[in-house]
Amino acid sequence: MADRIEITTPEALEDEAPVESSLRPQRLAEFVGQHRVRDALSIAIEAARGRNEPLDHVLFHGPPGLGKTTLASLMARELGVNFKSTSGPVLERPADLVGILTNQREGDILFIDEIHRLRPVIEEFLYPAMEDWKVDIRLSDGPHAETMTMAIEPFTLIGATTRFGLLTAPMRARFGIVQRLNFYPPEELRDIVERSADVVGVEIDEDGAAEIAIRARGTPRVANRLLRRVRDFAEVKADGHIDRSVAMDALKMLDVDEYGLDEMDSRILRTVIEIFEGGPVGLGSLAVALGEDEATLEEVYEPFLIQEGFLMRTPRGRVATARSFERIGMKPPPGLSGGQATFFDGE
Ligand code: ADP
Repeated sequence: MADRIEITTPEALEDEAPVESSLRPQRLAEFVGQHRVRDALSIAIEAARGRNEPLDHVLFHGPPGLGKTTLASLMARELGVNFKSTSGPVLERPADLVGILTNQREGDILFIDEIHRLRPVIEEFLYPAMEDWKVDIRLSDGPHAETMTMAIEPFTLIGATTRFGLLTAPMRARFGIVQRLNFYPPEELRDIVERSADVVGVEIDEDGAAEIAIRARGTPRVANRLLRRVRDFAEVKADGHIDRSVAMDALKMLDVDEYGLDEMDSRILRTVIEIFEGGPVGLGSLAVALGEDEATLEEVYEPFLIQEGFLMRTPRGRVATARSFERIGMKPPPGLSGGQATFFDGE
């Protein structure tokens, strides 16, 4: 059961880190899709190189699993600089960053994932570092503690967040380049599946890859995960070769439905429809009814349901669309609209 809930979650599972890093594209040219973002980054990289200056600080935002970490690390490679990675919740005290910042060479990249979760003391510490290439180091504790200001090399901070709205205004203002990543259309996910299959050495044809792609919730992380599970199935049942029918059988066995919706998505739709009569229902009430926290609902589950036309966000709350009534096998009330999948580009 737990397995079923997890398989299409866009968040990284505990044991996924090593596989994910082996599947990360190494160069910008290998990074599939997100053309607008890629173009903006190549221009910024070229300009920084031309001026022989560090790249402006960069902020990536968008749902989990769309390639924010991947982009940050491949930018370091493109620029030929060192890359250090940390995350908002891990940093407890400014001292946790002093070592990294004082050891960086000019132009190096510091990546901070979940940057909306930085503690205020860390943010305060980062501002002069990002702006004036200076850090204030406390030499002792207490209210009259002595501090020492140290110069650091100009560097590039790349921040990633699933919750742009939670970033403080002064932090936001310090990023020269802000890029939003969007869900991937099925053709791009198919390319990603084919590329990953190549990397891990599994035979897959175009139809097999397309079948995995359409159920991956617009998310490369999910596409790669489904590919790994389908490969296990194919090794046992089909000499390791993945075509459409092998992919379909495997995905059926894994209980991934035709839209890539999982148990949690179905519970959300059922709750809005059966308990709240299709909505509008506020995020708070919905979260309580589901026993899930609001942030996870809003960041992890809703974006895809909204994009796929299952749910709408209105000023009065979440509303089920005709499509979601159909999805759970109910007749939509007369006059209910909605239900188109939209691949939007931009905010
Ligand atoms: P995020 O930081 O946004 O949560 P990651 O960068 O960790 O996402 O990406 C998750 C996985 O998906 C990685 O294994 C990565 O290789 C793969 N991936 C993401 N975007 C792409 C892409 N555009 N092309 C190929 N693989 C991708």
